[in-house]
Formats: sequence, structure tokens, C-alpha cells
Amino acid sequence: MDHPRVLISGASIAGPATAYWLHRYGFEVTVVEKAAAIRAGGQAVDFKGPIHHTVLARMGILDRVRAAHVPNADGITVDARGRRVGTIPGEFAGGEINVPRGDLARLLHELTADQVTYLFGDTITSLSETDDAVDVTFAHADPQSFDLVIGADGMHSQVRSLAFGPERDYVRHLGYYYVLAGLDTGDDDVMYNEPGRMAAVGSAKAPAFFVFASDQLPPARDDVALQKRQAVEALSGGRWRMPELVAQIPEAAEFYMDSISRATLDDYSRGRVALVGDAAYGNALGGFGTGLALVGAYVLAGELARARGDHRRAFDAYQLAIGDYASISQKINAGRLMAPASRPGIVLRNLLFSSLSLVGPLMKLIDKPATNIELEDYSACAVR
Ligand SMILES: Cc1cc2nc3c(=O)[nH]c(=O)nc-3n(C[C@H](O)[C@H](O)[C@H](O)COP(=O)(O)OP(=O)(O)OC[C@H]3O[C@@H](n4cnc5c(N)ncnc54)[C@H](O)[C@@H]3O)c2cc1C
Repeated sequence: MDHPRVLISGASIAGPATAYWLHRYGFEVTVVEKAAAIRAGGQAVDFKGPIHHTVLARMGILDRVRAAHVPNADGITVDARGRRVGTIPGEFAGGEINVPRGDLARLLHELTADQVTYLFGDTITSLSETDDAVDVTFAHADPQSFDLVIGADGMHSQVRSLAFGPERDYVRHLGYYYVLAGLDTGDDDVMYNEPGRMAAVGSAKAPAFFVFASDQLPPARDDVALQKRQAVEALSGGRWRMPELVAQIPEAAEFYMDSISRATLDDYSRGRVALVGDAAYGNALGGFGTGLALVGAYVLAGELARARGDHRRAFDAYQLAIGDYASISQKINAGRLMAPASRPGIVLRNLLFSSLSLVGPLMKLIDKPATNIELEDYSACAVR
């Protein structure tokens, strides 16, 4: 493989980050993204500790990411009458650097736009592996062959479905959904709970954020109107400002809803296809998933460069390097913490965060998914 050709599916975080590194190592990279452009939106994603900082620095974007930092205010929890009943420390909900997810996705795209080929508004429809290539068909573009295919297409990865098998074999629904909606909320940074439901509003740049407990709903991933109806149904009938907020959801221009789920795979590769980011080890709303995606991209691309064309060796080394690190974040189910199922559970959660002696150890525990890996240095492999 002189100039190995790699196709990456997904242009959010893991995809462009992997593309950045592979380009530097001399690979010829195409990224296919089903959305028409880089998708904006999402909450602030957070980076914490030396591992995340090192990867951002090695990508040359630490300063730009720092410049996009939005401070994480303490979350004031209120009761149905708006009276303060607790505080969730800002450091718990965020890291040292918090960046709106959409800003980070845009930055990573800008970093790579001149170096790799982006195919927006398209998706892979089939993958068929031969002895020395993967033949790929697309919904719109002409068929092409690639040396390798990387699935960076998120929790509901199409590449994973095509190359590994159905989503139900790899993704576990953790009993909750989250909704982000650009609503007119006012400036008060507050969070309200009732059993199995949470609503948080406030800070200027962030969308309103809801979490609700639910069994798995009929899939509606590409149907925003249906997702909005599901969200309205699940969140209606509440107290506090819930009726007024929920009434705005159908008209919200910015809207994103997904299940809180966990992807668990024993092996992140099949033949010439590998997964990175949420597609491989996603754990929605917990465990520094965006930092993990950047670290995963760094390691996967670095191992591919180091193995000089031996993708099996590279994928094995990637698995070995990242598997334990990724599995730590898998222990967190943020839904339970954000929307406890019962009133006593809500009181207990609020007490827990009010107790300084408990918050300290808890913070240490949640630092682990950010820091518990030793990074290799692949800089000798860079050719540009
Ligand atoms: C719009 C948006 C908002 C988000 N908001 C939050 C949030 O508020 N809080 C949070 O914790 N996490 C959020 N996430 C998820 C978060 O970005 C990831 O958990 C994390 O950053 C890891 O990123 P990833 O690149 O692996 O996956 P993702 O960020 O999920 O990106 C996957 C990408 O693949 C694309 N894609 C999906 N299917 C296909 C396909 N068939 N063909 C081509 N492309 C495909 C998607 O459009 C997306 O751009 C959001 C993701 C998106 C896309």
C-alpha cells in the first residue's frame, strides 16, 4: 500500500480527527457524511487532564479549542415552584475545557477540508471485501474501492451494521432519552427534576436540555417530526416551566434527540473495516465520549501508520491500546443521575452533590475515563 486509500464514514468528531491524522501519515482519505453539511448543535463537550490536552496539542488545535471554551456554571436545581433545592457543581458536569460540540465539529472540518475529500449528503449502502480491497457502493456517488473503511458514524453506525451485524447485537439502550432543543428559555441557569424526567435551561449558547426515562421507542432517527412528537409526548404533563418549554418543541429550529445507549464490542475491526468513536465504544452522555473519540482517532491512525500497510497488526494494536480505556467510561449511566426514577432518588442525588466530602471522591472517579491510558508517540510516522 503506497498511498493507502481510506474511506471514513461520519464527519462529526471521530471522523475528521481520524482523517486529520491519516492525511499526515500519507494516506489518501475520503470522508462520507450523510448530513448535507457539518452538523451544528449539541451541548458543550468537555476535555480533562493530560491525555486530552496532549492529543489536542499534537493536533495543533489546543489554543483554538481553548479559545472556544465556554465556562461551565453550577447547575441550580429547583423544585416545581422554582425554589432552589440543590446545586450541581459545574466541574462535575464539565471538564477543564468545554466547547460547544458544533464548534468543535466545525473546527475539525476546517482543519481537514483542504486535505481530504468530503462527500456530504451521501451514505454507504454496501461494503464487500475482496482479498486486497473493500468495494463500496454509495446512495449517490459512484462505487469505489478502498484499502480500508473506518466507521466513525456514531452510536447507530451504518458501517457497523453492514460489516459487523445488526445494531441490537452491539448497542444497549440504557432506559433514557435525551433531547436538545433551541428554545426561548430566558437566562436563568436552572435544572428541574420530577421522577424519571429532567429539564435544564439557561446559559446563552446552550440549547434547552431534557432527559426522560423510557423503554425503547420506535426508531425515528431520520424523522425529526416524529422525534419531536415522541419528545412532546414523553415530556408533557409536567410541572414547573415544563408545559411552556414543551409547547415550543414542535417549532424548534435546533433539535436533536437520541437514546442514552452504550455500544460494546469485543473487537473493533472486521477484516479491512474498523470502528472509532461512538460507533465502537460510545456511551451517550457519560465518560468524556468526545475526548475518547479524539484519543481513539489518534491511536487508530497512529497504529495504521506504524504498521506500514499491515492493517491486521494495526487494528490489533489499536484494540489493545484503547480497549481498557474505553471500557472505563462504559460504567456510567448518566440518565440515572440526571433523571432519578423516584422522588427519594432526586432528594438523594441533590444531597450527594451538596456534600463536599462526597463530591471530591466522585470527581476522582469520573476523571478516570479521561486519563487512564498511556499515549504512544507516532510523530516519526508523519510525512506531512
Ligand atoms: C448533531 C449532534 C449533536 C450531539 N449532541 C450531543 C450532546 O449534546 N451531548 C453529547 O454527549 N453528545 C452529543 N452528540 C454525540 C457526540 O458528538 C459524540 O458522543 C462524541 O463526540 C463522539 O463523536 P463521534 O464522531 O464518534 O459520533 P457522532 O458525534 O455521533 O457523529 C457521527 C457522525 O456520523 C454521521 N452519520 C451517521 N450515520 C451516517 C451514515 N449512515 N453515513 C454517513 N454519515 C453518518 C452523523 O451525521 C454524524 O455527523 C451529538 C452528536 C451529533 C451528531
